[in-house]
Order: sequence, then C-alpha cells, then structure tokens
Amino acid sequence: MTQTLELKIGWLYPTLMSTYGDRGNVIAIQQRAQWRGINVEVIPFDVNSHPDSIHQIDIMAGGGAQDRQQEIVMRDLAGAKAEAIKAKLDAGAPGVFTCGSPQLLGRFYEPGLGERIEGMGIIDLESKHPGIDTPRCIGNVVFEITAKRLAAELTELLGGKKPIIVGFENHGGRTYLGPNAEALGTVIKGNGNNATDSTEGAFYHNAIATYSHGPLIPKNPFIADWMIKTALQDKYQTEINLAPLDDSLADRARAAMLNRLEIIG
Ligand code: GLN
Repeated sequence: MTQTLELKIGWLYPTLMSTYGDRGNVIAIQQRAQWRGINVEVIPFDVNSHPDSIHQIDIMAGGGAQDRQQEIVMRDLAGAKAEAIKAKLDAGAPGVFTCGSPQLLGRFYEPGLGERIEGMGIIDLESKHPGIDTPRCIGNVVFEITAKRLAAELTELLGGKKPIIVGFENHGGRTYLGPNAEALGTVIKGNGNNATDSTEGAFYHNAIATYSHGPLIPKNPFIADWMIKTALQDKYQTEINLAPLDDSLADRARAAMLNRLEIIG
C-alpha cells in the first residue's frame, strides 16, 4: 500500500485521568505507529468535548484516577458521551482502559468514602472499594491473557509464545465480573480484579480493561501492535502486517521482573 496510513487516538480525560502514569500507554502506541510511518493524531476527549467527536477515533485510551476525579468524569460521561463510547467499542475500536477507566465502563463504582457512582454500564462488571481502612492492592502483577480471541491473536503475533503481561497495580476498588463479561486474563502473581477469584481485567469486543498500570504498553509492547493492526485493518479493510521493531529493552525489563518474582518467562 503506498497511501500514508493514519490513526487517531482518543485519550479520555487526560488531565483528570492521568494520575498513575498511564499517559505512557498513549505515547507508546503513538510512537510504535510512527516508527512504521503511520501518521498519528492524539485527540483529547474531556469535559469540553462534544459526544460526536468520539466518532472519528480509531483507538481509545483511558487511564487511572483517584476517586474524586473519577467521580467528576463519571458524571460527565453519563448520557450522550457514554452512548458514543459504547457505539465505538461495539463497532470494534481497540481500546486500552486502565484501573479507574474500567470502573467507569462498568455498572457502578462504590468509592471508599461517599456515595455509589453510576458507570456507563458498557461492561458487565461492578467495582467496590471495601473502605479506606482496607489495604489497597499495590504491587507488581503478572497475568496470562486468557480472553479467547485476544489470546489467540496475541499468541500468533508473538510467534507462538503465551501472552504474559507484566504490570503494576495500585487500586483500592475491587472489581467483580458479571456473567456477561469475559476476563482479560488469569493472575499469576498479584491481586488482579479483586484478590480473590484470580481474574484480571475484562475484554469487550476489542477493548482491553485492566488494573495493570506499568505502564502496560511500554512493558508489553505487543499489545500496542495488536491495537494498531486491529484498528488499521478495520479502517482500511485490508490485511496489515507491521514491520518488526527492536523490543530488546522491553524484553529485558520484562525478564528482569519475571526473574525477580521467580516466574519462568
Ligand atoms: N480510584 C480507583 C481505586 O482506587 C482507581 C485507582 C486507579 O485508577 N489506580 O480503585
């Protein structure tokens, strides 16, 4: 293909939802696309955005936030914005939603202090903070992606290797999946959704919802490549094969953490 490919990344509430460094995900997706000669525009979506502005987006990214900021965002999203985001995800736009963002995508979030906040109800999950005296789930987290279609596509991208994610979690809320939600993965080390049922995150159409900061994508760059490939294939209706990149630094960082956590990589 001789045409220059273009991608628009919609970044949800960059000022309110960037407490935990998840901007790294946006930078990594952008950079990995640009290294392949793809033009990328990052478009913030926030309290001033019109709901229709979400239609132009090819990839969506949302980060974590503290409870107070999350409450402002959840109130702003109610109604037309939530519908526009749901329509985008239902149409198969790839997304990466971290920590506070999956809580927004679910039915509700009960903060440590204060009233329950209604979520967008897009993914069948609910999140509850057990109270400010209960320890937060903080630390390195390792999980295997088990969501069926995603696991198969990532395994192919990785030349047959299992998609193991190395990340870092920091959340007070515990998330419980309903019967209509598919878990993103199974926890190998760490807490994941709720520290009890071994599930981590959720996978909805092509949206990845996870408690893993890390940030996730710089440490696990194959996720970015899957998102870029998926978005471009849908946009241009043709098979896309991305040129390989030198990921030796990310591989070494992952191997060092797996080694420290005594997990065979
Ligand atoms: N406020 C949410 C919680 O503590 C989300 C935190 C986060 O995004 N890291 O569960």
